[in-house]
Parts: sequence; structure tokens; C-alpha cells
Amino acid sequence: MTALDPFAAQKLRDLEARQLRRRLIDTARTDGIHVLRGGRRLVSFSCNDYLNLSHHPQVKAAAIAALERYGTGAGASRLVTGNHPLFAELESRLARLKGAEAACIFGSGYLANAGIVPALIGRDDLVLVDELAHACLWAGARLARANVIAYRHNDLDHAAALLAEFRPQHANALIATDGVFSMDGDLAPLPALAMLATRHDAWLIVDDAHGLGVVGDGRGARFAHAEPPEIPLQMGTLSKAAGGYGGYLCASRAVIDLITNRARSFVYSTGLPPATVAAAGAALDIIANDRELVAKPLRNARRFTSAAGLPEAQSAIVPMVLGTAERALAASRRLEDEGFLAIAIRPPTVPEGTARLRFAFTAGHADADIDRLAALVRERVLA
Ligand SMILES: *Cc1c(COP(=O)(O)O)cnc(C)c1O
Repeated sequence: MTALDPFAAQKLRDLEARQLRRRLIDTARTDGIHVLRGGRRLVSFSCNDYLNLSHHPQVKAAAIAALERYGTGAGASRLVTGNHPLFAELESRLARLKGAEAACIFGSGYLANAGIVPALIGRDDLVLVDELAHACLWAGARLARANVIAYRHNDLDHAAALLAEFRPQHANALIATDGVFSMDGDLAPLPALAMLATRHDAWLIVDDAHGLGVVGDGRGARFAHAEPPEIPLQMGTLSKAAGGYGGYLCASRAVIDLITNRARSFVYSTGLPPATVAAAGAALDIIANDRELVAKPLRNARRFTSAAGLPEAQSAIVPMVLGTAERALAASRRLEDEGFLAIAIRPPTVPEGTARLRFAFTAGHADADIDRLAALVRERVLA
């Protein structure tokens, strides 16, 4: 047996040697756009607070009012006493926005996927996952103990071939994809995936963490298409454009009722704090009604890609793949010298050899900052 501390120290040395060790850095987000970090004030291109709602006066006021009325915590899981009255309103708002019959709020997006997939899928079933889908969809698939197979990123032919080969041996099948890919910013071909799922008698789950508030008039990736496809399982998070915290699933009434009975991360985890639920409700109200605001992150991302000479942004996320972790870290430091925060994204968050800068654009970024960032990229000072 290896003693624990030397074991941990050796693992950390290995990470350090590969430039993959990560560290926590105090980061004060003061307005949804700027951060105080390492004694400096930087313009952040690394926050997922796409609409800057984490600091919106209405959202904060809703949270404060709920905190004063219901206290700081839910007190228990939602099936016990944690189901304070703010949940029902948030869930009906979400269902309406996503065009679904019902919705269910989880503690976080990660908890949602870790609970939803195993509640619906078991040992005899098949899960096809886009190779670039978020880590928590993978976690859910693995927890389900199903036969889990990756298909090449957005490759419909590959997914179809896998379904043709493996679908017949399994009772139920699920296709799992991000709606907007978190590290690449591209969209999944949802109408074609929905057709494929129907053709092969499979269910489809779409993780719309980066779609809500940004694409499809703020309603998410499904609504980025002229004819929104039917997606039986629309999950997402309230921690990105909604500016707060919490995960969700939108689905039919029957599916939501089953999930609230069977998803272990729902049943055995405490409900979100009242202030968090109230903040999300206020944020969704803004997302549903302020068309102009929800158009801005994508407009800003496109201002950047056009000025930097990059392929046109499809979402608020623009990757700049640099290859090695070392190069990505150096580019990030270079930008920090210029007053910009763009965190280097390294494996295992992205595949080996594709370390990158990932720029996240928000509604409130100033044109001048976007243009200056684009100039730095265009002048290849980062390469
Ligand atoms: C951030 C993210 C999640 C996790 O959501 P949290 O609420 O932060 O746990 C899930 N899926 C995708 C695609 C994400 O980007």
C-alpha cells in the first residue's frame, strides 16, 4: 500500500511536469464583465455569465427578497420539506421558455445529468455520446452502467452506423449531445439528430448549458432552427446566461414525474436555496422578454470573429486552438499583460493536443475591448 500523502504529491508532480496542474486563484467578479485577480483589474473573456445577469439589479433584488422571507437554505431535499413555493413558478417559466410540458430543477447541471441518465437508462441499454459532449453527460452515461459508445463530433453518419450496428441488441437507446459545445462553441445538428433518434427508436437528450439566453432568441439551441425539432429531454443549467446556479430538465409531465421519483441526485440532495431559485426566476423573466439583450453575446462574438479573421461565431464561445498546454498558457499570460482574462483550457477538459484559449463573449463587453482583443489575435502575438 502507498501512503496517501506521497501518493498525492507524486500525482501532482506528474501533472506539473505535463503543464496540467491547476490552481485556484482568487477572482472577484465585480460587475459581470471585469474581475479583480492577482491585484489587477482585467476584462474577463472567461465568464459564462453571458448576459451579465449575476449582477443585474432585478435579479439581485429577487434573491435578497427570497432570502429575507425563506432564509438561507432549503432545509431538506425537495421531496421532504425543501420544496419552497418559488420552485413551482421557476419550473413553469422554464417549461414555457423551452416549449415543454414540465420542468424539474436540480442542484446543478452536473447533478442533473448524473441523475437523469441513470434514471432512464440501465445495463441492457445503449448510450451514444458525442465525443465532445460535456463531462457530466459522460458521468451520467457511465453511472447508468449502460453500453456507452462515443460517436465522432457532430458526425451523423458515424452515429447512424453505430445505431445500425448496436441498437438491435439493446432494450432502450439514448443519444446524448451538447446543444452548443462548451469548448468549441459550435452547434449540434439537432434536427438531423432528432430524425436519427426517431428512425432508430432512440431517445435524445440535449445539454443546452450554453444555448439558453444566447441562441434561438434566448430559448436555446433547439430554437436556433427554423423548425425546432422535438427533443424529449432538454436539460441545462441556470449557472451560465441565467447568472446563478442550478440545473434543470424540461420534458413531458410523465418524464418529469418519473425523474422526481427516481433521479438519485434529485431525491437524495438538498433543494436549491430560496434566493438562488428566486434569482433564476428573475433572470428567466429577463431572458424571455428582452430580445435585444439576448442578441448581444452572439453579436459581440461575431464582431470579434469578423475582426480577428476567424470563422463566424455560432454562439458566445469562440475557441482558439493552440496545441500544447504550454502554448495555451503562454498566450493566456500574454493577454493578461494586456488587461484581458482568457483562461487556457487544457486536457482533459479538451482532447490531447488541442489546448486552447476559449473566449466567452457577453452582452456587456465594450466594442473597444473586443476590437483590441481581435487585433492581438490578428497580429498573431499569441501564436
Ligand atoms: C457548465 C456545464 C454543465 C454543468 O452545469 P453546472 O450547473 O455548472 O453544474 C453541464 N453541461 C455543460 C455543457 C456545461 O457547459
